[in-house]
Amino acid sequence: MKRNVDLRQKYLDALAELEAGEARWGKLEITLRLLIGRLCLAARGRAAPLDGELRRLSDLIRGGSEHDEIEARLEPLSRAIAALDDTAERPIVMVAPRPGALTSPVSPMQMGAAANSEPARLAGEPDTDPAPPAANRDERDTRVQAVIVAVLERLARLPELRPALGDLCERSKGELSAEEFAEGLERVARLVGEQRATLMRERREIEELLQQMDVRLEEIANHLAGEALDQKNAQTSNQQLDLLVMNEVRSLNTDVQRAEDLGALRARVAGRLAIISDHLQEFRAREGVRVSSQLDRTQRMRMRVGDLEREIHGLHKSLQEEQSLRMIDALTGIPNRAAYDDRIRHEFTRWQRDNTPVSVLAWDIDRFKEINDAYGHSAGDKVLRVIAQHLAQHVRGTDFVARYGGEEFVMILIGTGADQACPAADKMRVGIANMGFHFHNKPVAVTASCGITTFCGDDTPETIFDRADRALYRAKADGRNCCRIL
Ligand code: GH3
Ligand code: MG
Ligand code: MG
Repeated sequence: MKRNVDLRQKYLDALAELEAGEARWGKLEITLRLLIGRLCLAARGRAAPLDGELRRLSDLIRGGSEHDEIEARLEPLSRAIAALDDTAERPIVMVAPRPGALTSPVSPMQMGAAANSEPARLAGEPDTDPAPPAANRDERDTRVQAVIVAVLERLARLPELRPALGDLCERSKGELSAEEFAEGLERVARLVGEQRATLMRERREIEELLQQMDVRLEEIANHLAGEALDQKNAQTSNQQLDLLVMNEVRSLNTDVQRAEDLGALRARVAGRLAIISDHLQEFRAREGVRVSSQLDRTQRMRMRVGDLEREIHGLHKSLQEEQSLRMIDALTGIPNRAAYDDRIRHEFTRWQRDNTPVSVLAWDIDRFKEINDAYGHSAGDKVLRVIAQHLAQHVRGTDFVARYGGEEFVMILIGTGADQACPAADKMRVGIANMGFHFHNKPVAVTASCGITTFCGDDTPETIFDRADRALYRAKADGRNCCRIL
C-alpha cells in the first residue's frame, strides 16, 4: 500500500513538473514567435525574393502553424539569404539616374553642360512604412541620385569646380560604385571648402589693407593739416617781422627828419638798426625750428608712404599668386579651363586687331574609361599627367595648353594657320601613341584624338571652341587616334 502511495506521489510530482515545464515552454514559444515576427519586419526591403519568404514566414508564425510547416520554409529562406550575400559581394552600383540628361550622345568635350532638369523632390513623402518594398526604395534612391547629379552639374559651371566635377559627372554616365560616388562628393566638398577659405582669406587681406590705408591716410591728412597750420604760423611770423621792420623804418624816417645834430641821429639810427637786427635774428631762429620740424615730419611721412607702397605691392603680389594658383590644374600642373577661358578671350581680341592666324586644338584621350577600368584611377591619373607634360613640351613658348577637364586638353597655337597646325598636331598625336606606357611590364596602348580649327570670319571664342570640338568628334567617329580639321 505504502509503495502505491509513493508511486502516486511521484506521478503527481512528475505531472506538476511537466505542467510547469510546458507553461515555461509555452511562454518561450510566444516570445519567440513575437521575436520572429519583428525580425521578419525589420529584415524586409533588402531584396524582393527575401521579402516574399519573410512575409510567408511571419504569416505562418502569426497563424500559429506547426513545426513542420515552419521548418519547410527554412530552406527557401536560407536560399534567399544566400542570394543576398552574393549581391553584397558585388559593389553597389550607381546607375545614371536621368538617361536623357547624362547618356544622350554629347560631343566629347561638352561635358558638364547645363542640366536644367526639374530638381526631383527630396522631401514631401513621409516614410511611414517601416519596411518599404525594394522597388520603392530603388526608385527613391534613383531620385536622390538624380538630385545629387543635377546639383553637381550646376556646380560644374563654376570654373574652379569644373575639373573635379566634370570628372564626376562624366563618370556617373556609366556605372559608379557608391564608394567612388561618395569619394567624388567628398572631393567636391573639399574643393568648395577650399574655394570658400580662399575667398575668405582674400577678403580678410583686403579688409586689413583697407584698414591700414585708412590709418595711413589719416596720418597723411593730419600731416597736411599740420603743414597748413605751420604755413599759417610762418605767414603770421613773416607779417609780424614786416610790421616790426616797417615800424622801425618809419621811426627812422621820422628821426632823420627831426634830427638836429648828426651825432644824435647816428646814435638813433644805430639803435633802430640793432632793434631790426634783433627782430631778424628772432625770426630766423623761429624759422630754423619750424623748418627743421617740417623736415622731420616730411621725412617721417616719406617713410610711412614707403611702407604703405611696400604693403600694397606685397598684397598685390600675393593676390596675383592666389589668382594664378586658381588658374592651374591641380592634377597635371598645367593651366586649367578657367585659364583657357581667359586666354582665348585675350587671343581673340588680339586676332581681331592684327589678324595673325590662330589655331585652336581640342584633344581627348581615346577610350580613357577603359584605361581607368583596367588599371585603376591612379594609373589613369598618371597617364593624364604624362600626356599633359608631353603636350606642354611640344608647343612654343607663345602658345598655350590647358587641361580642359577630365581627359580633355585644349591648345591655342599663335601665329599658326591650319597648314602648320595639322602637321604639328599629328606629330604630337604620334608622339602620344609611341609613348610606350606600361603597367606591370605589360604595354598599354594610349592614343588621343584631336580636332583642329582656325579663327575666321565672324568667329567668337565660343564658336571657335565649338568647331574644334566638332572636329574632335569627327576624329572619334573616324576611328580615333587621328586629327581632323574643320
Ligand atoms: P572616347 O574615346 O570616346 O573619348 O572614350 P573615353 O572612354 O575616353 O571617354 P569617356 O567620356 O567615356 O570617359 C572618359 C573617362 O575619363 C571617364 C572618367 O572616369 C575619366 N576621367 C575623367 N577625369 C579623370 C581624372 O581626373 N582621372 C582619371 N583617372 N580619370 C578621369
Ligand atoms: Mg572626353
Ligand atoms: Mg576620351
